[in-house]
This record gives sequence, structure tokens and C-alpha cells, in this order.
Amino acid sequence: MKWLTLYIASLPFLIWSQFNDMKQFYKLGDSTIEFYIHHSQVEQDFIFLNLHEDESTSIEALHHVIGLHDFSFFYLQHAKTRRINFSLEGKQFDIDPNRIFTKKGVKKTLKEGAGKSRKAVKEVQGLTNSILNFLPPGKTVIAVHNNTDVNYSIKSYLPEGDEAQNTAQIFINEEMDPDDFIYTTHLPFYEAFKKRKINVILQDNTGFVNDGSLSVYCGMNNVPYINIETQKGHFKEQVALINIVLEVLKEK
Ligand SMILES: [Zn+2]
Repeated sequence: MKWLTLYIASLPFLIWSQFNDMKQFYKLGDSTIEFYIHHSQVEQDFIFLNLHEDESTSIEALHHVIGLHDFSFFYLQHAKTRRINFSLEGKQFDIDPNRIFTKKGVKKTLKEGAGKSRKAVKEVQGLTNSILNFLPPGKTVIAVHNNTDVNYSIKSYLPEGDEAQNTAQIFINEEMDPDDFIYTTHLPFYEAFKKRKINVILQDNTGFVNDGSLSVYCGMNNVPYINIETQKGHFKEQVALINIVLEVLKEK
């Protein structure tokens, strides 16, 4: 009857979590995007988020873990794509939502898309601010991402890799898939993950490339930040890493 006990024990969580999920609509130009928000029962000093809607394994992992632990998270919903498309005064624009946390990043990501205008920059900065409203000072920020089995991995952060400029320290466990790793801005977290033999990178908070990503914003503003990155489809691995992060957060 073990499963029954387990089911009854988790029942309050399941019922409660249904009442703690909500959607908030956000107007980006003439387009609407949605914030999917899950509120924790007890106020916590950390919050999880997903910015890339197509990285669906990470969203599924959050919904899974929330059945067993109490924490808040949110993610953006639009067209299930990495980039967000929007129209403003009849013109089309698109952005990478993880490149909008500095003004330089906003301009660059608009340029890389359908084009940039002063009004579009302002419009996107409105979205940046409403995301940052969920991340008040004092909260640790935990982002979840997925990558693919090509190019980008923890090896990109080695001295000869594309991301070398962002690396202060790196620990690689050769037994782990190099696509599954943690990236943090905060030395005590780096040390805690290294101690557990988890693939981990500590961001160089002075030498990083200002691409407007949330890790850059957190590095600039002394916000403790963790990114849990796994290969798309590595559901079990992502759930395991989320659980390890929750364990490390409790240790603080
Ligand atoms: Zn991502």
C-alpha cells in the first residue's frame, strides 16, 4: 500500500498547486504574451523561471518537481518558439527573451531579428521590467534551459571554447553528459555543486560578454543566479539537478 500512502500524502500538494497557478496577460506592442505563474504556499527567498518556451523539457521538469516541493516559478507563453514575435504600429519585430536584460542586449537582439526602432527598444524594455518585477532584490534566481546535442556544452566554457571569456572557474565531471550542467554567478553555489561532482561553471562577473542575458544582469547587480541547463529530452537529469539545487539552497 506504499503507493496509496504516497498518493494521499501528495494529495494536498496536487490540489493546492492547481489553485496556485495563474496566467497574467502582457501586451507587447499589439501582441499578447502570457506569464504562466505558480506561487509557492510559503514565501521563499528564491524563484525559478524559464525564458525559452521551446525548451519544453525544462518546463515539464518544473511542473514535475512542484508536486513534491514548494517553490514559485514562472515562464513566458507565446508561440512555443525561442524568439518572441510582436507587432508595433504595423511593423514586425522579434527578440530572444534571454537577451533583453541590458539595453545593449535589447538593441542587438532586435537587430538580429526583423529590425530595430527606438519605440521597439522601449517596448521591449517594458517586458524586461515586468520580468524583473518577479525577481525582487534578495531572491536567488534559478533559470532552467535546454540545449541540443551539438556545439554548446560545458566544454564551450573551457579556455579554447566560445564562451571562455565568461568563465571564472569550471569543474567538469567526465562521467556526466557535457550538455547537462549548472552555470552560476555565485561562488558559494559553485563550491557546493563542485563538492557534489556536478558539472559547473562560475561566471566571471567582470569579464563576461554583455549579451543582455539574465546571467549578465545578475552578475552586474550581485544577484545570486543559477542556470540549470540540460540537453532537451534529459527530463530525469533536469529533475535530478533541480532537486540538487533545492538541496543546496536549503544549506545557505
Ligand atoms: Zn534557453
